[in-house]
Amino acid sequence: MRKILIGNWKMQLSVRESVALARALRAGVKKAKTTIVLCPSFPAIPAVRDALRGGAFALGAQDLFWETKGQYTGEVSGAALRELGCSFVIVGHSERRAHLGETDEMVNKKVSAALAARLTPILCVGETREERERGTRDAALRRQVHVALRGLTPAQIGKVIVAYEPVWVIGSGKAVPPKDAVRAHGKIRNAVEEVAGAAVKVRVIYGGSVDSNNGAGFLREAAVDGCLVGGASLRAAEFLKLVQVAETVA
Ligand code: PEP
Repeated sequence: MRKILIGNWKMQLSVRESVALARALRAGVKKAKTTIVLCPSFPAIPAVRDALRGGAFALGAQDLFWETKGQYTGEVSGAALRELGCSFVIVGHSERRAHLGETDEMVNKKVSAALAARLTPILCVGETREERERGTRDAALRRQVHVALRGLTPAQIGKVIVAYEPVWVIGSGKAVPPKDAVRAHGKIRNAVEEVAGAAVKVRVIYGGSVDSNNGAGFLREAAVDGCLVGGASLRAAEFLKLVQVAETVA
């Protein structure tokens, strides 16, 4: 099974640094079975696209707006991202939910807009520390999946990648045990089935402090279709090691 590795560079790099990282990665991967997606910040997208040209990488964005055009200062449409060469877009990342007030309803509109623009949405869901401690993780995942996929056809839902990202683990340096992620992925697949029916199979990936030391534990699991990587995607040597791991398990 072809695995997916997604690098989320967040707002960590300047445009120049983004290009340097893209060049180093491009030089380190000639071809790959793994689907490798890099998500630079908006201003770096064109230069990173050019640096990756002809290589084994796909391009993604970290967010989009749900409207296609209009008086929405500072927002970016799915069509504009496609025009720049993106084929993926992260939607509903917990940092946007926490810092920018993104709700499940907004995430739903963004998933829909991404699909309408022929972008593959990488829908982030995950429980907060409080939800984890209260034992309401599964209910939180179910709610997030149900609302995010509301109004979509089964065929559209089949195109979505769901990223399970326990919020309290992101950037902590301590991933959850792979079996824990596998259980959460099962809950996510159940929730998708409730919305779309058993015939629809979505890809579910894990994110949260994945690095080259723990990556194999996740990528070896059949229930884990890949990983969304933050911090470890910012260092070329580290991310290239993860690519190698994904290539060997695929
Ligand atoms: C993320 O923010 O999506 C993420 C997975 O970050 P990190 O790998 O740094 O925990």
